[in-house]
Amino acid sequence: MIRTGLAYHAPESTREACALLADHGDGAAVLGGGTMLLPAMGRGEKTHDHVVDLRHLGLDGVTVTDDLVEIGARTTYSTLLEHELDGVAGLFTLAAGGITGGPQVRNQGTVGGSASYANPASDMPGVLVATGARLVLEGPNGTREVPAADFYTGAFETVRRPDEFLSVIRLARRPAQVGYYKVKLSESSWPIATASAQVQVEDGRVVSGTVTLGGVCARPFTVDVTALLDESGNFRGADRELDELVDGQIEDPWHDELAPGRYRRQIAGVAARRALHHTTQGGER
Ligand SMILES: Cc1cc2nc3c(=O)[nH]c(=O)nc-3n(C[C@H](O)[C@H](O)[C@H](O)COP(=O)(O)OP(=O)(O)OC[C@H]3O[C@@H](n4cnc5c(N)ncnc54)[C@H](O)[C@@H]3O)c2cc1C
Repeated sequence: MIRTGLAYHAPESTREACALLADHGDGAAVLGGGTMLLPAMGRGEKTHDHVVDLRHLGLDGVTVTDDLVEIGARTTYSTLLEHELDGVAGLFTLAAGGITGGPQVRNQGTVGGSASYANPASDMPGVLVATGARLVLEGPNGTREVPAADFYTGAFETVRRPDEFLSVIRLARRPAQVGYYKVKLSESSWPIATASAQVQVEDGRVVSGTVTLGGVCARPFTVDVTALLDESGNFRGADRELDELVDGQIEDPWHDELAPGRYRRQIAGVAARRALHHTTQGGER
């Protein structure tokens, strides 16, 4: 139960929303689906006097054009799954399909909420970085677009200022074969590590690829694995090299109640390998 007094706002325009956030600063929280925010406020871990609900700003839904995919910040996982996203954007579908918590979380939790919360162990930060998404932030001085790789500054930290909110996630439509794998303790657990892989295929042969690891460090990071391809265009036989490539990027592994940093370091290469395998074969290896 939230025991403090709380003012609820549902602004009708971007300008009104930004003015509320600017007026109340850290005292205000943007409300997405509330699946993280409200329980945290109930436990007293977060205290805000105002919540600003974006429900009237038309930020629900996915738009696909010839060149772009735009995902409104209030798009739920369930809505995301109603769209057949292709190419690199297919990573959103793969990740959304594996979110735990049942229909309540998939129908209520939003992509923008997960992106903004910036929990290293969430699925979305890694997918946003992997897809080269740009996050559109609305503030009192206008709109700015930040590449996902620059959006995350640390665990639970982003470049979003208190008077800004995330409105849209925008990405270029790019052809790729994608694969996703996450390590978790049990079927219903949160991820410990996620791997978002994408490969480019020409004439039936893989010619390049990357894997983005989430949950392993405070911020997602991407490893270019193109150099590990053999002459036939596959990654077979490159397991140790892949482990080394991934490990070389892990300076300070993330740790939380799910797993210590040394475990995350150890399983990062395995997650990367399985996601890469998924790009061409589907399933696990
Ligand atoms: C039982 C359960 C299981 C879960 N399983 C998984 C899982 O397997 N994988 C996973 O990744 N996640 C999982 N989650 C987390 C889930 O993904 C998040 O709860 C959800 O996506 C957060 O979205 P929300 O809209 O509810 O955010 P909210 O709770 O509304 O907000 C979260 C934070 O983001 C801020 N915020 C929200 N929207 C915006 C915006 N547009 N602009 C700026 N700031 C904003 C809020 O102020 C708050 O700080 C689980 C959660 C639960 C409860």
